[in-house]
Amino acid sequence: MSHPHHMHGRSDAVVEMPEGRLDFNERPILVFWESTRACLLSCKHCRAEAIDKPMPGELTTDEAKAFIDTLSGFGRPSPVLIVTGGDAMMRPDVFELVEYARGRGVPVGLSPSVTPHLTWENARRMRELGVKAASISLDGSKPGTHENIRGVEGHFAKTIEALKMMVGLGYTLQINTTVMRDNVEELADLACLLKSIGVRIWEVFFLIHVGRGSDVRELAPWEYEEVSHFLYDVSRHGITVRTVEAPFFRRVCQWRLADGAGDDPIVKYGLSRLYGRLSRRLAEGMGETVGEPLIRSARTRDGKGIVFVGYNGDIYPAGFLPVSLGNIRSSSIVDVYRGSPLLQSIRSAAFTGRCGICEYADLCGGSRARAYARWGDPLGDDPACAFEPPTPDQPTVTL
Ligand code: SF4
Repeated sequence: MSHPHHMHGRSDAVVEMPEGRLDFNERPILVFWESTRACLLSCKHCRAEAIDKPMPGELTTDEAKAFIDTLSGFGRPSPVLIVTGGDAMMRPDVFELVEYARGRGVPVGLSPSVTPHLTWENARRMRELGVKAASISLDGSKPGTHENIRGVEGHFAKTIEALKMMVGLGYTLQINTTVMRDNVEELADLACLLKSIGVRIWEVFFLIHVGRGSDVRELAPWEYEEVSHFLYDVSRHGITVRTVEAPFFRRVCQWRLADGAGDDPIVKYGLSRLYGRLSRRLAEGMGETVGEPLIRSARTRDGKGIVFVGYNGDIYPAGFLPVSLGNIRSSSIVDVYRGSPLLQSIRSAAFTGRCGICEYADLCGGSRARAYARWGDPLGDDPACAFEPPTPDQPTVTL
């Protein structure tokens, strides 16, 4: 298992909003709630076995409603409640809770697992209750790749079917992909596949490795850098791209946005064959014509603009950062979000290591979850970032 929580509780940046109106010290834009840990899938990067019933300690219906009520304490505009899991559809009261949240003016997003629970009837009912946004995981452009990662034979075709169904029902659909050694070479084909199905938002998660030793599936910082450049290219083909636990994508975007028309990124940034292959495949699949990059996003990071509530009510900066800040059964999530010294440090970009001296600390700030996983310090630097900020002694930028 690579991390304690399920895949879905996560985002560096999601909602496109005028940033001036958002004070992330006051309120998040996204509150992730791991409504259950039950899920019929057993994805490699999530957990070893499927869990077919609730875990002890999950919030009851009444506790969940009380939790939804407390969100009004953040004021308006209300944060979006992202109901994740596990598989939220495994909660028998999920429709009741979504209806309850909508009745209180709380927008709801869903991230269902593709299982027999995700029927047309259920998806339509959610849509009728006012759920507009949903995200579904797809981890490869080929069945074998996706199914090897997801651990279920035939799951690729079922996922494509589910995607088409959700697009047909009018959902704003987001695809979540975990980039790793197994699928990095398929990213361009995957982007083309998304576009052909009508999916316009792609959220790409950069693996967090927890524990000793190295993870063979994890990419090296230079590879992540090249993937970030490739994702910038994708964003110029009509797909909104967001990264999760890879906020240095915003640094890359800032660089690329400032490039002149004649600049060749391979030359300018010293990129190598991985980027070359991916960008060539992308051009083959989507054509050379490109438009404005679709990367507008709020400058969120774990604990800044987003917060995560685990299945047992524990509050975390994000789904991949297992530092508990309190529990909603005994503390107000509003007080915890606003008053936690750790979240205040994260929001004021009070980092150490490279992130501490980096000029992009506020724009980016590195993955707090990866810093914690590597250094045991949620304010440390992000080991997946390839950028070496110049120090006073060495005033040159090397990459
Ligand atoms: S050093 Fe840290 S803040 Fe700077 S770009 Fe890399 S991850 Fe972001």
